[in-house]
Amino acid sequence: MTEIRDRLAKLNPRQQEAVRAIDGPCLVLAGAGSGKTSVITTKIAYLVQECGMKARNIAAVTFTNKAAREMKERVGKMLKGREGHGLIVSTFHTLGLTIIRGELKTLGYKPGFSLFDTDDAKVLIKELMHKEADTDAEQINAVQSQISTWKNDLILPGAALSHAEDEDAQYAAVIYEAYNRHLKAYNAVDFDDLILLPVVLFRDHPEVLARWQRRIHYMLVDEYQDTNISQYLLVKMLMQERQTFTVVGDDDQSIYAWRGARPENLVTLGEDFPRLNLIKLEQNYRSTGIILRAANTLIANNPHVYDKTLWSQMGDGDPIRIIMNRNEEAEAERVAGEILTRRIKEGAEWRDFAVLYRGNFQARLLELKLQHYQIPYKLSGGTSFFGRNEIKDAMAYLRLLINPADDNAFLRIVNVPRREVGPGTLEKLANYATGRGVSLYAACSEMGLREQLSERALDRLGRFTHTLDRVRREMDAGQSISAIRELFREVDYEGWLYQNASAPKIAERRMANVWILVDQLEKSISGNPQEEVEELEGSEAMIGDTETGDVAAAISRLVLRDILEQQAEEDDSDRVQLLTLHASKGLEFPHVYVLGLEEDLLPHRNSIEMETVEEERRLAYVGITRARRTLVLTLARQRKTYGEMMDCVPSRFLDELPPEDLEWEGRADKPQDQEKKVARGRDAIAGLRSLLG
Ligand code: ATP
Ligand code: MG
Repeated sequence: MTEIRDRLAKLNPRQQEAVRAIDGPCLVLAGAGSGKTSVITTKIAYLVQECGMKARNIAAVTFTNKAAREMKERVGKMLKGREGHGLIVSTFHTLGLTIIRGELKTLGYKPGFSLFDTDDAKVLIKELMHKEADTDAEQINAVQSQISTWKNDLILPGAALSHAEDEDAQYAAVIYEAYNRHLKAYNAVDFDDLILLPVVLFRDHPEVLARWQRRIHYMLVDEYQDTNISQYLLVKMLMQERQTFTVVGDDDQSIYAWRGARPENLVTLGEDFPRLNLIKLEQNYRSTGIILRAANTLIANNPHVYDKTLWSQMGDGDPIRIIMNRNEEAEAERVAGEILTRRIKEGAEWRDFAVLYRGNFQARLLELKLQHYQIPYKLSGGTSFFGRNEIKDAMAYLRLLINPADDNAFLRIVNVPRREVGPGTLEKLANYATGRGVSLYAACSEMGLREQLSERALDRLGRFTHTLDRVRREMDAGQSISAIRELFREVDYEGWLYQNASAPKIAERRMANVWILVDQLEKSISGNPQEEVEELEGSEAMIGDTETGDVAAAISRLVLRDILEQQAEEDDSDRVQLLTLHASKGLEFPHVYVLGLEEDLLPHRNSIEMETVEEERRLAYVGITRARRTLVLTLARQRKTYGEMMDCVPSRFLDELPPEDLEWEGRADKPQDQEKKVARGRDAIAGLRSLLG
């Protein structure tokens, strides 16, 4: 028997049916842990090894990088040698980016376009709103999220304006139009554009769509319940002709409505593709009976699109423990202690544990405790140093100093700090530069530009480039680091940070980061030869004998190191995983801890106010169903909220679990007992830690 047949034989009959259904549209709708993702990965191998399809004609899409990585890994184990060559396994956004990259000209973008993250976009929106009205953060956020919603719903500025029903929406639509125009002038796209632009491109350019349809013959989508309208259309357009795709999903795990996800896409699919083959899976292979029962009972409190019943053959297993703690610190301490104990008693690996929480802020205390007990952990979703906005700004200055042709860097900082260079000016500058075939920076000092721009605009641009020219000369004269330090002071980057930060402390921290970057640069120039990268693709032209050349090399070293560290982050090392509930989707761990089962936290206060508790329940369902063998839910009696100690109320979700399967701890404790317990626990942990060496 071939390997793939062997693999297929291990699946249950319904799963096999889902893998074998290759001729038409197929929807696998099933609860957590029933093998939906397994169907996708097996099916990719099946398509290649049994059906003779080329891997390069197959595209599998997921939502998070982590999920894409996991899938790649699972598929990688099945496909041998070059069998997997050209296979697309990516997030929706990465696929969108790939499509955009290949069609820049048609889309009217220049090579080397920038991708604006949420913060970049916010800055731009804020600028635009300043021109229209006096605004505050809440308003800016509202407009930004409205724009994002429109983009996710595939509503372009013109349509937004005509659909806008009240004044607020009209205002947002006006900003939306200006925002898109500016993005274009900056040769930039935002996160939502990564899906929207391909859809618009496909709609307006059938020949481009046809090209992609020839490339992708079979499509597989995991976590389909979280697609938004634009994502759905992307799939639909690509698959319209062949109708060969498999999407898998679970409406009970839809947790991205706030980002435009449309679980009703599950229903739309049946309407758009009448031949749809609907397959349901009911056996859960992940969790013990008690964990599964808890998940089922909890989610039964929500209305359902499709009814499902999940069962498991794994036996009941341990009861679910619910630990009530004095406060959040005790909670973190307790979880760290638990992990340490279990590791020693059961010989578990660190990677067998996951701690899940509603918001990233909840990880901070836990990190401190884990560090204290020297428990290795991996925090997902933190920003890398080079991902920070202030570092991106500072890097753009450095890049432009070294490479005046870097239009991206130019555009990033020409108005950072604000220099009042308007979009009209930039548009003319960009047109002129394109016409002459020179960079934006070079165009600033060309005589011909004088005919295009006003005296004032020329003056503003001139002052910007003169400053940089001067710093560049100082660098060439051997004063690199001091010249760079002086540059950031001269442009008053710090002042700009203060203007834009929500609190002075934040601005302070950001400026400190910039100085850290400069310090690192200095260290790197004075050189650690081991870190020297000899051949860095594309950087040849930048690295010369001059001081600027040294700085360029040093920068490449720093960036490369950051990238490698990021990659190290993604490796398979043995560490406890710290994740938000949102980020945990699709994953599984033998031992799961979910923190903060309190009203206002899980369910989140906003959702209680907006009456969207059902989505929070699904989030809790996602968390619970990550657990294979043991599940511990924790809560605190008191928690610091907005700097104030608040009494907490246990989450309503706890009342919705089957009481006979729960084992409560600390519920009846008096405060002093709790303190004693914590102290005893601490001693015990210290003892255990020393055992581990
Ligand atoms: P989620 O909804 O959480 O994304 P899922 O439906 O995608 O879950 P998988 O992650 O594919 O489920 O599978 C859950 C676990 O069950 C995995 O460890 C997988 O290897 C295992 N599994 C799936 N199908 C089978 C099977 N037929 N026999 C044994 N184990 C299976
Ligand atoms: Mg899955």
